[in-house]
Amino acid sequence: MTEVPFNNLKRRYDTYKNVYDEAVLNVLQSGWYVLGKEGETFENLFSRYIHVPYVRGVGSGTDALMLALRALDIGTGDEVITSACTATPTVAAIVGVGAIPVFADIDESTYTIDSQSVRTVITNRTKAIMPIHLFGYPADMTSLQSIAQEYDLSLIEDCAQAHGAKVNGERVGTIGDIGAFSFYPTKNLGAFGDAGAVVTSSNDIAKRIQQLRNYGEVRKYENIESGFNSRLDEVQAAYLSVGIKFLDEWNARREEIARLYHDGLKNTPLVLPAVSEGGRERVWHLYVVQAEARDALAKHLQDRGVGTSVHYPMPVSAQAAYAHLGYTAQELPVTYGSMEKFLSLPLFPELTNEEVQYVIENIIDFYEK
Ligand SMILES: *Cc1c(COP(=O)(O)O)cnc(C)c1O
Repeated sequence: MTEVPFNNLKRRYDTYKNVYDEAVLNVLQSGWYVLGKEGETFENLFSRYIHVPYVRGVGSGTDALMLALRALDIGTGDEVITSACTATPTVAAIVGVGAIPVFADIDESTYTIDSQSVRTVITNRTKAIMPIHLFGYPADMTSLQSIAQEYDLSLIEDCAQAHGAKVNGERVGTIGDIGAFSFYPTKNLGAFGDAGAVVTSSNDIAKRIQQLRNYGEVRKYENIESGFNSRLDEVQAAYLSVGIKFLDEWNARREEIARLYHDGLKNTPLVLPAVSEGGRERVWHLYVVQAEARDALAKHLQDRGVGTSVHYPMPVSAQAAYAHLGYTAQELPVTYGSMEKFLSLPLFPELTNEEVQYVIENIIDFYEK
């Protein structure tokens, strides 16, 4: 039987084995493993790629968000507006600094935070808005920027799923006050373990992040505030410096696959993901459709060897960990309504056209029965 995996990182390693092996081995042989020249090299490469003055490598995407909040002095009792249609770490980071997550609803076609809904949940405790460029689609930064200005709020972009996406020609991460990236292995740019980065145009914020990621040290053994241990290690940095050279190529291949899905699935009852529009230039992290009889379709595909996934099975507000926040489907109708139909199809650069075709045929087959 044909087997189409939902993802397969081994294909990536096999393709680039020589360069990856060399990069990692060099670090092992160097005898220097944390906060060194590999980290700086990657920070410089990423800063050039994103077109942002300051990049600080950190331990993960979740840490990047937490350190961003801390760097803006957002903490106990402060409210941060975000969406419940996201990976739970977006919300865990807010809770992690002692702040209160406040959920606004999402736009029904891009699944990013709805700026009209944001306006309705602003209070005098609101300190920041944290939009997610979900599945690679940039949030409506133009509207969010004017809201942030109007109410004097900070804007922290969760860029974990959108390496390379742009708004009016500028890369996401550079539009708000701070951008937080994850390099979890399956992201568009991935490490071979946990890694993340904070990007900013502010020298002050960059300095704060640099302190916070390293115990709060301003100089060795001189702590001016309490911090974390969240450093991008030299091995992950060297691995990422290899990957970043291929990021545009990988994103282009993801786009090709998305086009194949679009053409192949346009006559099915599926609601297909939004394409770039109005200055919002997306990348493809996940190919998420809305499907009637979603679970039956997933089962049908699984029986034919096709791996699918659901991002995410429920709104973050419906998770046991966040139930106490007290949100209901009535308050967030678009979030709850769309998510129960979400299904993610296989989308990674090493997928072959034949495999994509096989997925399409089996979806068509399901709806014709
Ligand atoms: C992956 C992800 C994160 C967390 O990144 P980690 O590196 O796993 O900590 C945060 N937000 C979103 C939207 C993500 O997809």
